[in-house]
Amino acid sequence: MTEATQVLSELARIDARLLELNRQLRKIPDRLNIDRKSLDLEQKVLDEILGPWQQLESDIQKRESTIALAVETIAKFEEHMKRVTTQKDYMADRKQIEDAHKLNDQLQREIEEARQKMDELSPRLKEVRGRYDRVREEYQGREAVVLGEKAVLDAELAEAQARFNALSAERGAPFMAYYRRLCKAGRLPAIVPVVSGTCTGCRVALPPQAYNILIANPSQHGTCAHCSRIVFYQAPENAEAKARGDSPAA
Ligand SMILES: [Zn+2]
Repeated sequence: MTEATQVLSELARIDARLLELNRQLRKIPDRLNIDRKSLDLEQKVLDEILGPWQQLESDIQKRESTIALAVETIAKFEEHMKRVTTQKDYMADRKQIEDAHKLNDQLQREIEEARQKMDELSPRLKEVRGRYDRVREEYQGREAVVLGEKAVLDAELAEAQARFNALSAERGAPFMAYYRRLCKAGRLPAIVPVVSGTCTGCRVALPPQAYNILIANPSQHGTCAHCSRIVFYQAPENAEAKARGDSPAA
């Protein structure tokens, strides 16, 4: 094999690898979304119970501040009562104080009721929150694994792309432009060997004359008349070795 032929077969190898890397990278968002869905579901269950829980908490808080205000009012009227001179004013103060106590008793009962409801909700909230925390931890673990895989794929893609660009530049601008057109048309892999007279991209046999030109010029590429891919000649023994996973003979 001449060096130029090696370049074509190396370009074909990288081209196929780029296709595979991009295919795997495209799956990443879906893989993350599938995991995310189970977490979102747990979040929804948690929110359904957290909503009433937080409402009860805020109800208690509001009532407690009202009670604090009422206690201040009571103290104020008790102070005032000491200084009143008429029975009428005294009775009025006493009425205010009684009302404030009544209100406080009512609020206290409501706080008790709310606390009781929270006690009832508590075991369920604990259970749901525990499950949510577990699912979130699992999700974060899986997310880290997938993102780690993505980083490895990204790095390999960048490296393969750089090597591909350098090699294809050697074959000239028209070659690169034609390759880009094939990519844009989704004709991938775009560079494929012709084995035993057949384009390995579309599995259609080349016209004998075109095939003979490729055999005679193994360092030159051609295009498949059927699928338009960039094709080059590959001896059948090389193709078999490649299928077995051997590295091509230097
Ligand atoms: Zn073809």
